[in-house]
Amino acid sequence: MHELAVTEGILDMVLNEAKKRNVERVVAINLVVGEMTGIEEDCIRFYFDILSENTPAGGAKIAVKYEKPLFRCTGCDRVFERKNFTFSCPYCGYPGVLAQKGVELYIESIEVE
Ligand SMILES: [Zn+2]
Repeated sequence: MHELAVTEGILDMVLNEAKKRNVERVVAINLVVGEMTGIEEDCIRFYFDILSENTPAGGAKIAVKYEKPLFRCTGCDRVFERKNFTFSCPYCGYPGVLAQKGVELYIESIEVE
């Protein structure tokens, strides 16, 4: 799985941010994860605990908020959420393509001490 690399990236960003702001301890990290990434919260936590040991982010709590993907219809151009395991447009039935959201992962906020 790619969770290890993803978690390393998150930790890097958090530590950079902590350094910039002279933060000694990061207590919580709020992440937004797109559902389409397939990234599992438990995996991130697992790797994070290992990787963050002996860093200012060690022991920080991780909160993950999942974001639903949005699709854009190739027929009527409307944006919709996928429902019932189909990518078809709920308005006209044309196939939808991934528009935005649901594919990214970013840090929403960091709580520090
Ligand atoms: Zn449509």
